[in-house]
Amino acid sequence: MNNIFCEINDYILENEVAYAIFDKFPVNEGHMLFIPKRHVKDFFDLTRNERESIFELVDEGKKLLDEKYSPDGYNVGVNCGEVSGQTVMHVHVHLIPRYTGDTSCPKGGVRGVIPDKMKY
Ligand code: AMP
Repeated sequence: MNNIFCEINDYILENEVAYAIFDKFPVNEGHMLFIPKRHVKDFFDLTRNERESIFELVDEGKKLLDEKYSPDGYNVGVNCGEVSGQTVMHVHVHLIPRYTGDTSCPKGGVRGVIPDKMKY
């Protein structure tokens, strides 16, 4: 199962099981992706060790972004399946730094996956 991530080798962070890269089309400056080395499409098919290894890197990534960009908050998210918006069929966790004023009304955050339901 080759995909776009297989062509990338300039990892920002890495452990035995997973790695992190900067997103090529970032939602905000510092947008990172955390990817298992094993080719798995769906987050729910990851082993416990893969999940732990990925989230260890998410913690390291957050530290790195705090130091480099001092964001005001974060969104962490995974798209699971085409219907949810997944476009690269190799599971990845998005870490999106948020900056005050990056959108006029952030209320609802990840609820914005369905824009009409973002506010409640
Ligand atoms: P998703 O829609 O959850 O599958 O997210 C795929 C992500 O991969 C998007 O945020 C894209 O901007 C990002 N992306 C696509 N191609 C590349 C690439 N060559 N290098 C890094 N990130 C990429």
